[in-house]
Order: sequence, then structure tokens, then C-alpha cells
Amino acid sequence: MAEQWHFNPEMETLSRAELDALQVQRLRRSVVRSMQAPIYRDGAFAGKLDPETITSIDDIRRLPFTTKDDLRANGPFAYLTVPLSEIVRIHSSSGTTGTAVSIFHTSDDLANWTELVARCMAAVGLSKEDVFQNIAGYGLFTGGLGFHYGSELLGMTTIPAGPGNSNRHIQLMQTFGTTVAHLMPSYALSLMRNFEALGVDPKTDTKLHTLFLGAEPHSEETRLKIEEFYGAKAYNSYGLTEMNGPGLSFECPARDGMHIWEDQFVVELIDPDGDQPVAEGEVGELVYTTLARVGMPIFRYRSRDLAAFIAGPCGCGRSHRRITRLMGRVDDMIIYKGVNIYPIQIEKVLSGYSGITDNFLIVLENDQKGERITVEIDTEDRQLTTECAESDRLRKSLIEALRSEILVTVRIEFRQVAGDDALPRMKPKRIDDRRLK
Ligand code: ADP
Ligand code: ZN
Repeated sequence: MAEQWHFNPEMETLSRAELDALQVQRLRRSVVRSMQAPIYRDGAFAGKLDPETITSIDDIRRLPFTTKDDLRANGPFAYLTVPLSEIVRIHSSSGTTGTAVSIFHTSDDLANWTELVARCMAAVGLSKEDVFQNIAGYGLFTGGLGFHYGSELLGMTTIPAGPGNSNRHIQLMQTFGTTVAHLMPSYALSLMRNFEALGVDPKTDTKLHTLFLGAEPHSEETRLKIEEFYGAKAYNSYGLTEMNGPGLSFECPARDGMHIWEDQFVVELIDPDGDQPVAEGEVGELVYTTLARVGMPIFRYRSRDLAAFIAGPCGCGRSHRRITRLMGRVDDMIIYKGVNIYPIQIEKVLSGYSGITDNFLIVLENDQKGERITVEIDTEDRQLTTECAESDRLRKSLIEALRSEILVTVRIEFRQVAGDDALPRMKPKRIDDRRLK
């Protein structure tokens, strides 16, 4: 029975000491291999790490960091350890924070990645008996093909649904008896409206029992809201293109943080404004090193994503390190009148209200009285955008609830949206900081 929950029992149940030893061995191998790539042989990395001298994983700190700007400036070819003829797939990041970054995979890289995704799926009890509907973009975005191949490796009946056409997704679920779906949390929320409009109750009218929510930050409150509506367990799935994409980090049945597959990645938590590790339990920037990547190894990649480590053993028995739900990106952290605010805190509060959508924008401005913060919230209810008792009551309640969450007083504005404008946007922009302009 236990076997069923491990796709690769050997790797998933390594002890801490065994994992540490494996990481050292794989780091050495990766450093040797990386010498085939121009950037490591001749660039900033040259001479920084002699594989013979790596005795502990902490030796990784002798290497410089890699940033998204490095990948942009040098281009993917500088990082390749193999000729292009050995590369079988290219993916690109979504370009949320600027020019998209491309990552090149050999067939071994794809096999390793696919296995990690299959591990995540098996860990939450999925098997070939399941029907998996992948509501993610197929193409350069990693969420489509990444999840797709993992699901097929596990043997699930896979529906490559892709995004778009919400009513069709509901139809597919009913026609094929979908038991598992992968989608963005904002899309899961908006799909609720389609279920309601069609009079379909996912709890009784579909076989859904598991959801994977990923690609964007979301709060525990949003997860619970989604679980309640769909009558399914929702698991957080986090990844970034530079570290393959999905399969980097996932929630296990213990649902207490996300494990990172440490047989394939080294994870560090670094002060976002500096180069030193943060203290145990503190929020820091996640920094990753690939340990198994052949085509395009990356060392100490500064992800700009913020989270904290969770100490101690996990209820599921895996010793691979755990991180908390993501706070968001470093660049999305607002400092307002000396207080740190993350968009996810706003989302958490808004998720408790009906009558408004989950789309919002935080606007920061300077006026004669100093700094000002406004949360603009989309609503399909036209009445809310007019001066009336109803909008007044909701506005006051939101201001109060937000003050207890973020400790500052905001202004609230409702923006009316309809039709396509009411659909969630892919990785929406949450902050408009006009203070500097
Ligand atoms: P981009 O960085 O351009 O958006 P990607 O498509 O590679 O490109 O997206 C990866 C990023 O998406 C991560 O670095 C992280 O900021 C965000 N992300 C992905 N999954 C999650 C998740 N489960 N929770 C929070 N943020 C996530
Ligand atoms: Zn676990």
C-alpha cells in the first residue's frame, strides 16, 4: 500500500544523510560537466570551484549567483554543455517580469523532469485509474507539457484540454469523468461562475476529487474556498521555468508546506538584498541549483521568489526539505510607510467576500498629504461602483478587514468589469507604483 504513494521509493525515502551525500556527489558531477559550457569554462564561474574540493553542499557558496538578467544577457547557448543537436525541447518563462528566459533540455533532462512531476502526482494518491484534465497552456509555458508528460508516465488518462473556453472544460469533465484537474487558482475561482451559470455542481455532477493549483501565489483561504466549491482536495504546485517548471516543489498529503526534490535541486534561502543565508525560519529569496540537468545546468539561481523553510520531519516521511506557501516575488513586496505588504495578503482578505471578483490592483501614489494606497477591485455588480449604502457598507468592511491584515488604512475603489474583462488574466499585474514617477 505504502508503495503506491511513491513513484520512485528509493529517491523519495532517502534519509537526510543519504540525501546530503547524494547532493555532494551530484554537485561534483555537475561542476565537471558544466566545464563544457562557455559561461562556466570562461565566464564568472571559471576557477571558482574545483570538483575535487567539494566535500559538503555548503561548498556551493563559493560559486557566484546566477540571475535572470545573467540568463537574458548571455543567452541560453552560453550555458549549453552539449551541441544543439542533443537538445530536444525548448521552454520559455512567461515573461512576467521582463524578457522571457529560455531553457534547453536534452532527452535525459526531459525524462528527469517528467519523473519529478509523476512523483508529485503519485504522492497525493493518484494512479492510472485517474482521468487528468490539464487546463494549462500548451506551448512554451511549462505548465502544459510538464504536467502532461508526468501524467502520462504515471499512466493517467490524460486530457490535454489547454486553457480557454470555460464551458467546454465543464463539458469535458462530465463527458470523460475527469477525476483530477490542473489549473491556476484564479481560473479555478472564475470557473465557479460557469459552473453556477450552467447549473452544474462539481461536488455531485463530476467525479473530481483532486486539483493541482499552481503558477501564481494564492492564500490558504483561497485554497479552502476552491476545495469547498469543487468538493476536491487542492494541492499547491510551484515551479519556475529555469528549474524545469512544475515538479520542482509540491504539497504532499500532510499538506504542511511544499517539498523540494533535493535529489535534483539544491535549495538555499538568501537575504533578498544581500548574499548571505537568512536565519532559520525567516523569509528569504529561494535560490536553486540544478543537480541532474545535463543540457543547461544552472548554479545558484536567484528566483526572486520569497518563502521560508519549514523545519523538522514531515508527516509523509519524506526528508526532502519543505518550504512554506510563497509570499510572492521580491519585486512584488510593497514598502508603504515602513510596512511590508504582499499582494497575497490582499487576496487573502478579498477571498472572504462575495460580490467582487478576485482581480485587484494596488495603486501607490504621492499626494500633498504624503503616500496613499488604493486597492482597486473588479466587480461585475454595477451597483457597487455607484454611491449607495451597499457599496459604502462593503467598502467600510473591506477597509477594516484589510487594516487588521496589513496594518495600514487603504482606500477602496470598485471597477466594473463585464464579459471577457471579468476573466482572470494570466499572472495579472498587482501593483502600480506611481510614487517614483
Ligand atoms: P515568469 O517568471 O515569467 O512568470 P514562469 O512561467 O516560469 O515565468 O513562472 C514561474 C513563477 O511563477 C515562479 O517564479 C513564481 O513566482 C510563480 N509561481 C509558480 N507557481 C507558483 C505557486 N504555486 N505559488 C506562487 N507562485 C508561483
Ligand atoms: Zn511530506
